[in-house]
Amino acid sequence: MHDPTLPDCTLGDRFGRTATYLRLSVTDRCDLRCSYCMSENMTFLPRKDLLSLEELYRLSTIFMDHGVRKIRLTGGEPLVRKNVMSLFENLSRHLDNGDLDEVTLTTNGSLLSSHAAKLADCGVRRVNVSLDTLDADRYRAITRWGNIDRVLAGLDAAQNAGLGVKLNAVAQKGAFEEELDDLIRFAHQRGMDLTLIEEMPLGGTPSCRSRSFLPLSDLRQRLEDRWTLTPVRHTTGGPAKYFRLHETGGRLGFITPMSCDFCSDCNRIRLSCTGELYTCLGHEGGRPLREALRQSDGNERVAQLIREAVYAKPRGHAFHIGEDTVSGLSRAMSTLGG
Ligand code: SAM
Ligand code: SF4
Repeated sequence: MHDPTLPDCTLGDRFGRTATYLRLSVTDRCDLRCSYCMSENMTFLPRKDLLSLEELYRLSTIFMDHGVRKIRLTGGEPLVRKNVMSLFENLSRHLDNGDLDEVTLTTNGSLLSSHAAKLADCGVRRVNVSLDTLDADRYRAITRWGNIDRVLAGLDAAQNAGLGVKLNAVAQKGAFEEELDDLIRFAHQRGMDLTLIEEMPLGGTPSCRSRSFLPLSDLRQRLEDRWTLTPVRHTTGGPAKYFRLHETGGRLGFITPMSCDFCSDCNRIRLSCTGELYTCLGHEGGRPLREALRQSDGNERVAQLIREAVYAKPRGHAFHIGEDTVSGLSRAMSTLGG
C-alpha cells in the first residue's frame, strides 16, 4: 500500500511527510571506533553481503525517480569503501541533469585529504566532518586510535578544494562541555558551521549512555550565559536547528532527536549497504530490497517495495534516555550512518 493520494513518482507516508533525502550507507566498516558508535572489537559484515557500487547506484536512480533530491553517502566510514569515487562520479551526472539538488557525504575526515579535490570535481559542494574535540589525546581516546592531524589535514584539503565544511560533534557530559567554546571558535574562525548532535541509544544500550547523555536544551541554556545566540532560518535540508553566534558571526546547529520533536517534518530515508531500507533511524527492521533488485532487470518490483515501506514509515522514533533507563536499538549507528 502506498499513499493513494500521491502520484506513483513520490514517496509519501501516512502522516503527510514526503521522503526527498536519502542517506546511503556504502559500508559498515570504519577505520576508527568512536566509543559512542562502535565497540572496539567489531565484527563487520562479510563483503559478499554488501551491494556492489553499481547496485547502490541503480537503487539511487530508483529513489531519484521517486522524488529523492538529495543523497548523502555515509557509513561506517564512506571513504574506506574501495572505489567509492566511482559512485560519486555516477551520481554527479544527476546533478548535471537536474535530477538531484545535492550529493554530499558525512566522513570522519581521516581520508579526506586524498579525496577532497576529486569530490569537488564530482560536484560535491559541502561535506560534514565529525570532530568532537581539538585535543589530540582526547581525540585518540574517543576514536580509540584516531590521529587528529589527519582530520585537520582533511579539513584543509576540503577547504582548499572549495568545499563547504560543517563540523559535527556528538555532545556528551564532561570534557566535551569544557572544550566546546574552543571548538566553536575553531569552526567559526575557519568559516565552518558546527552542529551538535544528541547522543542516541543505538548499538545496544549500555547504561553508561544515561551518564554521558547531555540534553542539548540544557547545553544551549548554559551556552547562552557566554554567547549570544539568535535563531536563523538557515536549513541544509536536514534536522538541525541553527543559531547565529553574535560573537563569532558563525552558525551553531542543534540536532535534538532525544529532547525535542525531531520527527514531525522528517524527510529522510536510509539505505544500508546490504540494501535494507529504513524509513526511521529509531526503529529496528528494514525492508530488504537486495533480492528484488537482483531478481529483476526492471525496477518496478523494487519501486513498489520502496513505496510501501515509506508509506508505512512510523510517526516517530522509539528512543529514550532517562536518568536510570535507556531504551534504544541493537543496530549500530554505523549500519546506517545517522
Ligand atoms: N564515519 C562517518 C563519520 O563519523 O562522520 C559517518 C558515519 S557516522 C555513524 C555519522 C554520524 O553519526 C557522525 O557524526 C557520528 O558522530 C554520529 N554518531 C555516531 N554514533 C552516534 C550516537 N550514538 N548518537 C549520535 N550520533 C552518533
Ligand atoms: Fe566510525 Fe563514524 Fe562510527 Fe566514528 S562515528 S566509529 S568514525 S562510523
